[in-house]
Amino acid sequence: MKEKLTVKNIILLIILIFLICIFFFLLFTKPKLILTYNNLNIDREINVELNSDFNIKASVKYLNKDMNDKIKVSGNVNVNKVGSYELVYNVRIFIYKLQKKVKVNVVDKIPPVITLIGNNESNACSTNSYIEEGYTALDNYDGDITDKVVIENNINERIYKVKDTSNNESSITRKINITDVEGPTIKLKGSENVYVVQNGTYKESGYEIVDNCDSNITNIKIDNNVDTTKVGVYEISYTASDSSNNQTTIKRYVYVYNPDTAANMSGSEKGVIYLTFDDGPSTYTSKILDVLKKYNIKATFFVTSNGSDKLIKREFDEGHTVALHTSTHSYKKVYASVDDYFKDLDKVKTRVKNITQMDATIIRFPGGSSNTVSKFNKGIMTILTNEVLNRGYHYFDWNISVEDAGSCASKKSASEKEKCIYNNFVKGLSKNKMNVVLMHDIKSYTADKLEDMIKYALSKNYTFDKITMDTTQIHHKVNN
Ligand code: ZN
Repeated sequence: MKEKLTVKNIILLIILIFLICIFFFLLFTKPKLILTYNNLNIDREINVELNSDFNIKASVKYLNKDMNDKIKVSGNVNVNKVGSYELVYNVRIFIYKLQKKVKVNVVDKIPPVITLIGNNESNACSTNSYIEEGYTALDNYDGDITDKVVIENNINERIYKVKDTSNNESSITRKINITDVEGPTIKLKGSENVYVVQNGTYKESGYEIVDNCDSNITNIKIDNNVDTTKVGVYEISYTASDSSNNQTTIKRYVYVYNPDTAANMSGSEKGVIYLTFDDGPSTYTSKILDVLKKYNIKATFFVTSNGSDKLIKREFDEGHTVALHTSTHSYKKVYASVDDYFKDLDKVKTRVKNITQMDATIIRFPGGSSNTVSKFNKGIMTILTNEVLNRGYHYFDWNISVEDAGSCASKKSASEKEKCIYNNFVKGLSKNKMNVVLMHDIKSYTADKLEDMIKYALSKNYTFDKITMDTTQIHHKVNN
């Protein structure tokens, strides 16, 4: 059966062909939205570096014409903050509706920086015993992350590692040379200065040794040539070695003395020590007298109106020289005039006379003859130093001061004060001169250290004497 080509059918066919044409036309002319970043097409997701210049290019063409102004973007990206953002691109052209979503990841790719404090190479007994010199870790995004640093100890190195919040990792290595370059520390038990009476026994009080690497040091050598039969100063040396052959040596001094040779029997003055005590008597005077008695040493006390009569009596009875210092020790009063000076002196002179029945004729000026505190009365010391001699006195200054009322008095502890006066005493002594030593029996530390000073002098074969009218006077230069 044959169908007829009717008009109706022809029209239907034309419409059909027309519709097919439109369909293909629409199909082939559909606009395309193209997104690129750094010249690369974007699919769905891109990674952008923190703080970078970030720019997505969006373009659309319809029938070969740029229609970029039809593109609408929504969403925001903060390139200064790590995170994921979404941008949505919309285009409406003719009957077309296009949309593309892009996920933008702002990422931190810069690792933190670790900086070592101290040397990149260090010495230690072991990596574990290395004493950390310090380090810092700084990150471009997280800031200071020093507290996140993890340390790993290996045999010859210490590795410092840190990760920032974006998991960027850094590490740095400090080389540790396993070596011991430090000698042991020796600590003496007992005193560094030991006094032994002649023909007595020296007793070693021992020592302690500590080493930075070795737990137990047994290699110790002691050199001891102390001969207690001979008066003198002896050194004992202690040498300890650790397993790396580092050596430490320290010394102890032993003073062998003879208390029986303390008194100066020769009558000569060179190398003789004249201990003189000012400003007393006081509660410390009896201790000083006890020590002097023990060694049969005679000394000189320049007394004042202070303290008990009994102590002055004891000084006198035990054979010491009781000499005159001042009644008031007030510079303002004493040096106000020549008359005032002698009034003050007479007062203490009378006291001594009442106690000892003797006229004291040996004196010491308050502040010494070289004092400048009297300058408020111009020339008074020039007058007085002549006048006392005219009146039959001998005045004595000093050529060694232990500084017990001077610089040593300001030291903090009693032991520091004692050490200070002892050192001044030791430093000042000489065999080539008479040694007139200024001390004060109103100072506890002077009383406490006196015996050690005497033992030292005896171990050096010094002798002691008291000042008499036959003793050569020691005079300072007058400054007023
Ligand atoms: Zn004085």
